[in-house]
Amino acid sequence: MQYKRVLLKLSGEALMGDRQYGIDPKRLAEYAQDIKEIVDKGIEVAIVIGGGNIFRGVAGASNGMDRVQGDYMGMLATVINGLALQSALEDAEVPTRLQTAIKIEAIAEPYIKRRATRHLEKGRVVIFGSGTGNPYFTTDSAAVLRAIEIDADVILKGTRVDGIYNEDPEKNADAKKYEFISFDDVIRKGLKVMDMTAFTLSQENELPIIVFDMNTRGNLMKVVSGENIGTKVNN
Ligand code: UDP
Repeated sequence: MQYKRVLLKLSGEALMGDRQYGIDPKRLAEYAQDIKEIVDKGIEVAIVIGGGNIFRGVAGASNGMDRVQGDYMGMLATVINGLALQSALEDAEVPTRLQTAIKIEAIAEPYIKRRATRHLEKGRVVIFGSGTGNPYFTTDSAAVLRAIEIDADVILKGTRVDGIYNEDPEKNADAKKYEFISFDDVIRKGLKVMDMTAFTLSQENELPIIVFDMNTRGNLMKVVSGENIGTKVNN
């Protein structure tokens, strides 16, 4: 295995599967199986889950809602997704803990770095909910922040596209995929990998990001085995 401890970022939209909204139980079960496979190989897995399938603060604000209020709704949406993922992982017999940056003690542990790393050492999957706990941030920023804090080897950004392209592959069939690209080149070429706050935090801390297609079964295992199936962003 190429990595010992990984931070997997899953967007909320990924959980929708073919739906327009909410959570697709089939997709969730598939993710749980893929995650189980790498846990069984001894990889320590932490997960940051998004909330875009339920609510985004920006969308609320564009409809006249107070942005901060909307962002808290978005953060709570990530907790809903975290609970769903925890349930799917437990169905697959993967020991799991959910920790949240905003305290919701009846359903999740508060985020405590030392406790999180202890869980990881014991082979438990740790899901981080409610993002950074702060409005005006995204779960991509939370993913980078938590990855640095728990000393993860890499951020695995599971998406529905199989890497980073020079143009949008869903709009241009001739778009070219990068196997490797530097942080500087991503910025220079104006490519979108994560929002800038998240991206520069990763660059400053020399934390590589791998963007890969999480919707193809077995890809997660390939990535942690060191196969170049997505795009790796490195210094
Ligand atoms: N959010 C926030 N602070 C954070 C993380 C998330 O305010 O640290 C809110 C924000 O409104 C965001 C929503 O939660 O739009 C859902 O997160 P995100 O958009 O990152 O989810 P994803 O796109 O990964 O599904």
